[in-house]
Amino acid sequence: MEIIRTVEAMKQASRAAVAAGRITGLVPTMGALHEGHFSLVREARKRCSSVTATIFVNPTQFGPREDLEKYPRPFAADRDALEKMGVDYLFAPAAEEIYPRGFSTAVEVAGLSEKFEGRSRPLHFRGVTTVVLKLLEIMRPRLAFFGRKDAQQERIIRQMARDLNLDAEVVACPIVREDDGLALSSRNRYLVGEDRTSAAALHRSLQDARMRIESGERDSPRILQAVRGVLSSEPRVALDYAQIVDAGTFDPVDVLQPDCYILLAAIVGGTRLIDNALVEQVGNTFQVTV
Ligand code: AMP
Repeated sequence: MEIIRTVEAMKQASRAAVAAGRITGLVPTMGALHEGHFSLVREARKRCSSVTATIFVNPTQFGPREDLEKYPRPFAADRDALEKMGVDYLFAPAAEEIYPRGFSTAVEVAGLSEKFEGRSRPLHFRGVTTVVLKLLEIMRPRLAFFGRKDAQQERIIRQMARDLNLDAEVVACPIVREDDGLALSSRNRYLVGEDRTSAAALHRSLQDARMRIESGERDSPRILQAVRGVLSSEPRVALDYAQIVDAGTFDPVDVLQPDCYILLAAIVGGTRLIDNALVEQVGNTFQVTV
């Protein structure tokens, strides 16, 4: 695996891979890698003949009171893991390489970026889309891999790719969870003791919704009331939002429809967690992936 620190060198390596007829894949991350990230790398390895992973803790997607400074950066362990998984290139630039002095451009997907995570974290998605567009232009991958754990982010990036006629195909990968159902996240390491145990309530509440939906419940307010009920039984979990939305527009729906998400965000012991379940119609029934 070659470690690349500069945009210019990364461009050259990517252009050479394309010229050599490789099917190129990109897995963007902020590091502190876990099985969720590895699942994206594995999928990329399966579908591509040249895989680039990036580790870049993108400052522009952090709010002023967020954890940019203390965000975990276990670079050596991340590098070793990616090397073992057969990644071809690890792009790990410094912040000044991506945002040199005088940098003044931003790209924003209007509408979608203002809802849910965007409302709770203003400018977050603008930071995400700006850096992802830069990475897509530096690497020009055939396929780019994102996790459904960040469903709104994946939807926004897909919209950006469509709106800007990007060549990359956005591939969405399933959520990877701990044994107790907690969705893997680099921020889970902030959860200790009872906070860690309580955090599993997010998944439990989605499982409760799944059971109700699979028993025929279609009414969003009733499903959400049950979800909130599960979460309110955990005093350490402070709910930010729980909503059922159309998977395309992220607008709330009163009655289940084909392809929606149950979205959750909560703060547990000072750590903000998000989770979701995908609801799809299969024949006459609804199938819930959580
Ligand atoms: P991050 O390093 O948090 O920016 O995440 C990098 C990529 O990994 C994003 O596309 C995330 O959606 C994805 N990801 C993070 N956690 C998980 C998870 N538990 N399951 C699947 N994908 C994940």
